[in-house]
Amino acid sequence: MELSNRVKQLRPSSTLAITAKANELKASGRPVIGLAAGEPDFNTPSNIIEAAFKAVNEGKTKYTPAGGLPELKKAIQHKLAKDHLNYELNEIMVASGAKHALYNLFQSILNEGDEVIIPIPFWVSYPEQVVLAGGKPVYVFTDESTEYKVTAEMLEQVVTPRTKALILNSPSNPSGVIYEREELESIADFAVKNDIIVVSDEIYETLIYDGSHVSIASLNDDIKRLTVVINGVSKSHSMTGWRIGYAAGDAALIKAMTDLASHSTSNPTTPSQWATVEAYNGDETFIDEMNSIFKERLETIYPKLMEIPGIQCIKPRGAFYLYPNISETVKLCGLESADEFVEQLLEETLVAAVPGSSFGSPDNIRLSYATDLASMLEAIDRMKQFVEKRM
Ligand code: PLP
Repeated sequence: MELSNRVKQLRPSSTLAITAKANELKASGRPVIGLAAGEPDFNTPSNIIEAAFKAVNEGKTKYTPAGGLPELKKAIQHKLAKDHLNYELNEIMVASGAKHALYNLFQSILNEGDEVIIPIPFWVSYPEQVVLAGGKPVYVFTDESTEYKVTAEMLEQVVTPRTKALILNSPSNPSGVIYEREELESIADFAVKNDIIVVSDEIYETLIYDGSHVSIASLNDDIKRLTVVINGVSKSHSMTGWRIGYAAGDAALIKAMTDLASHSTSNPTTPSQWATVEAYNGDETFIDEMNSIFKERLETIYPKLMEIPGIQCIKPRGAFYLYPNISETVKLCGLESADEFVEQLLEETLVAAVPGSSFGSPDNIRLSYATDLASMLEAIDRMKQFVEKRM
């Protein structure tokens, strides 16, 4: 069957390939340690689960408005206001996950050939979604020298009259870095000067172990007008499977995104929306508890990782990933690339990591610490032995 040119452009993710291989090994009974997970390894808090049951038992199982329940929009509005972000209800749209909010956003702002600046390393779905919407990704490479962050100067070098948007993701998947207020201020000046939409993906907002989150939209009215804040409960409340995210921004854009949803997905799942009302309005001590566990893992694992010969890794300050540059380690092992390192590491030591090539930086690998500390320490130990054996 002949597929559309649109979907033929989609690149299969190497993350999926490595996950498939890891699953195959696991299914054959081998003790694989997966460091590829993109979701917290905690159950959703019980008050949220109970809210979903209650909703279902009360018959709240029907369609809601395509852009989300008014009760949920109000809860999101309140949450945003706590972060000094004031939005009207018609400036907020609930979506089936942050990914879906981003999808509807790119479909609603891009015309054929419009350029979107995507800093490297990037979350895997950004380029694919931009291309699906007819846009052109324009990459800006970053590495340790700028802590994997873009600066206004770097952006000035790639901006053109066709630049429509810039994607920012702080805290970042995969690097775990966070942007400071001053850094965001100069990026905001750049965006306002060039009239560029800022897509601010803040999905890891609550997962910060050093420093605090600043939303670029909170800096001033000019940048707020140009920013679309993307967020959701997948990571903050360990609710990846519930599929609730949101977008907040310009009312006409939110209306277009909602109209698009009304002809594609309709509303996000109704019980999940009620669960999310509880997530935002109810007890949030879970967030601090989860953070202290992630912080302890990071503090324990990071120094161990740095003992591996050749490893260079800035200490992440948020999310739950380590993103070492292993180019020296690869050389010490007599291997060709980080991709080959990841493949052989899995085959020989049964540790599954994600190659940085998935995120645009082929010298790196991504290690998720959304797994228990003992497994993580065992994985780092296996990795160290794997390297030392080859030196
Ligand atoms: N943005 C980033 C940077 C992510 O890492 C993810 C999930 O991995 C998402 C968005 C999507 O989140 P959701 O589960 O809400 O669709």
